Amino acid sequence: MSAKVIDGKAVSERVREGVRQEVDHWVAAGNPAPGLATVLLGDDPASEVYVRNKRKACEAARMRSIHHELAADTGQDEVAALIEKLNADAEVTGILLQLPVPPQIDGDEMTALIDPLKDVDGLTPINAGLLSQGREALVACTPSGVMELLREAGVELKGAEAVVVGRSKLVGKPVVQLLLAEDATVTTAHSRTRDLAEVCRRADVLVAAVGVPRLVNADMVKPGAVVIDVGINRVEEGLVGDVDFHGVKEKAAAITPVPGGVGPMTIAMLLANTMKAARLQAAIR
Ligand code: NAD
Repeated sequence: MSAKVIDGKAVSERVREGVRQEVDHWVAAGNPAPGLATVLLGDDPASEVYVRNKRKACEAARMRSIHHELAADTGQDEVAALIEKLNADAEVTGILLQLPVPPQIDGDEMTALIDPLKDVDGLTPINAGLLSQGREALVACTPSGVMELLREAGVELKGAEAVVVGRSKLVGKPVVQLLLAEDATVTTAHSRTRDLAEVCRRADVLVAAVGVPRLVNADMVKPGAVVIDVGINRVEEGLVGDVDFHGVKEKAAAITPVPGGVGPMTIAMLLANTMKAARLQAAIR
């Protein structure tokens, strides 16, 4: 039996429409439209495209987009000063430092300077810590998108065996925390995991966030599992995920495609986080 294909594009459009309506109500109630500040260092073409798409999505949701572009050789002090300025600016609701940053800049150090209430990427140590304690936090966008897809697909997580392949700060670790918060039994697999196939075969819910094209094949998937593919890998034929979609589709109960699965969710959750940040900031004013 062929798996149900989870349509990330459709889910992301619903989330974006929901945020747009929330912004309308927020502004109609007399609040300023949330503003997302994007900071781009250098001229990496992929980062330029990502930031452009984020800004467009922001405007489509009727939020304000505030963009700062700095030269590739900008010093760390200047980046830090800009982040401090945005922290202090009441018109700025969310701050997004586009990663990766040029080599002379310490991305972790700069990210840590962002006011946790404006940290719409959910990457500051404060928000990562709150998440790991199961407390209210701004959560990283791609992991939130993974959870939204699981919710929309009606996947029961309580007590389920979940396996996350990948342990990055950006994706793997926060996905693990979010699955734990939903009472799944979670295993983290990574590059040093001894028998990856055996570990993956345990999973009722398998999340791949690795960056290796088609690493997860049908042999590694339990029949009836739900498979979420976070990977985006450019190969000769175009974009592929970390999962061998065609093989795994015949074994899984549900699967996300690449493109059109997790990818579109990231920007949708960024918008949702920016709206949430506006509410959190208003609550303490
Ligand atoms: P990363 O390189 O920071 O982390 C990769 C993780 O995979 C590491 O923890 C590593 O231990 C693990 N790993 C590497 N090789 C492995 C192997 N052979 N077996 C098992 N584990 C292995 O990457 P990341 O930032 O977490 O991104 C992972 C993938 O997700 C990439 O393809 C990236 O492009 C994609 N991504 C997609 C989105 C999106 O919006 N959909 C967002 C972020 C990242």
